Amino acid sequence: MKVVTTEKELKALVSAERKKGRKIGFIPTMGALHKGHFSLVETAEKNSDYIILSVFVNPTQFNDKKDFEKYPRNIDNDLQLLKNKKVDVVFTPSEKEIYPKPDKRKFSFAKLDQVLEGKQRPGHFNGVAQVVSRLFSIVEPDFSFFGQKDYQQLLVIKELVKQLELKINIVACPTIRDDEGLALSSRNQFLSDEEYDEATFIPIWMNEVKKLALRYKVSQIKARVETLVSQHPQMKLDYFEICDASNLNLISDFQEAESTIALIAIYVGKVRLIDNIML
Ligand code: AMP
Repeated sequence: MKVVTTEKELKALVSAERKKGRKIGFIPTMGALHKGHFSLVETAEKNSDYIILSVFVNPTQFNDKKDFEKYPRNIDNDLQLLKNKKVDVVFTPSEKEIYPKPDKRKFSFAKLDQVLEGKQRPGHFNGVAQVVSRLFSIVEPDFSFFGQKDYQQLLVIKELVKQLELKINIVACPTIRDDEGLALSSRNQFLSDEEYDEATFIPIWMNEVKKLALRYKVSQIKARVETLVSQHPQMKLDYFEICDASNLNLISDFQEAESTIALIAIYVGKVRLIDNIML
């Protein structure tokens, strides 16, 4: 496993592999790696011959500067964990390498970036589009792997690839959960034991929502979730919505969409967690 920090080094490696006819798989991450990230590596193994994983905490996607500063960083541990994984190159660029000059580009994803995370975290998806398009231009992968845990991000990236007319296959990977059902996240390490116990209600509620979707109206389900959360003083609902899974348009009736998804963002103490479930 090689560790490279510059665009030049990475491009040289990729170009040598491409000449051998090998398919390049790319996994962008912000580090603090866990089994969710490793599952993307396992999926990548199935259709790529050469796997690149990047670790870069992208400042432009944080609308809250404190959140950026606090974001967990432990590159030594990440590299240690990656040693027995099938990753060929870890790309750990500096901020200067990714943004030699400030990125002023403005992306538009129509309605997609105005709901849910886009609404609650203004500018977030613009920053995601900046960093991912920049990384794509460096790596030029055949495949890139994204987790369904960040479902809205996945749709934004698919739209980005379409808009920029890139020849990259975006592969969606299922959400990996711990034994209690909590979706793995780099932010889970900030939860105290007590907060962790509270957070395990999130998957319980989301599974209940899935059951209720067969029998109740959207408005009734939303009210039910709000009631459940209000019984937990340590938790604060940021949003809970039911959407058309193809474009994340909010729906008020299940008949409005062929496939639907429930998405939640919730504070457990000060830690903001997101999750979703297909209905
Ligand atoms: P992050 O480092 O949080 O930016 O995540 C990097 C990639 O890993 C993104 O595509 C995420 O959607 C994906 N990911 C994060 N957590 C999980 C999880 N629990 N299961 C599957 N994929 C995940």
